[in-house]
Amino acid sequence: MNTKVLETVKAIVAASSNIVFFGGAGVSTASGIPDFRSATGLYNQRRGSKYPPETMLSRAFMLHHPQEFYDYHLNNLIARGAKPNTAHLVLAELEKAGKLRAVITQNIDGLHQAAGSKNVIELHGNTYKFYCLGCGQGYDLAFVDSARSLPPTCPICGKMVRPDVVLYGENLDGAVMQAAIDAIRKADVLMVGGTSLVVYPAAGLIDFYKGNKLVLINQQATPFDARADYILQGDIAKILPAFVENFDTKYER
Ligand SMILES: [Zn+2]
Repeated sequence: MNTKVLETVKAIVAASSNIVFFGGAGVSTASGIPDFRSATGLYNQRRGSKYPPETMLSRAFMLHHPQEFYDYHLNNLIARGAKPNTAHLVLAELEKAGKLRAVITQNIDGLHQAAGSKNVIELHGNTYKFYCLGCGQGYDLAFVDSARSLPPTCPICGKMVRPDVVLYGENLDGAVMQAAIDAIRKADVLMVGGTSLVVYPAAGLIDFYKGNKLVLINQQATPFDARADYILQGDIAKILPAFVENFDTKYER
């Protein structure tokens, strides 16, 4: 960790009231949510199924094998009892202090909201939300848990209720993407963390940032290191608390 860079970024954060944070799986690893693409991540675990996870997380699989799709989803994509970690808490705190405008996330775990963040732009949806394929009615996890059989069906129209996440073979929501682009375009500081930045749409989104305070926080090098104005290498859950005064005392870690 370069302490001089850290001090500079601390001063930038202290002076800004328009920070946008863009994050990926690395933000949630300290909460015990597996990173999809790392060596120990979800994509490299078969968990006794005959299908690879990429297949089971596709739109076609959901439609043709709804029961197996649901079994996989409920057992692997919902981390019951997962709690926000220091990275989530710091970002919520910065928003409350009027410094951070939006959190854009590739994660589907809802932990930013659990930490108290209000303006959360979820690029890939939210694994705790569900909706009916027929009439669009929204449902929560309690509804799915109480279903007599899987897949759950809509009490209003009888069609299948599906998770509100973006599957393989599906496009990202246009309005959600636009909200992310708008936030990034207007940002004074763009802080990017816990993402390798190799997966669509991460790379494209960063191109919309026109400022000169692009801060990258990551364990490994990324294809955007050359474009970053400041690089903080390390665990995001350990680095972010530096940006909130007396964070340790507040949260009694
Ligand atoms: Zn319905």
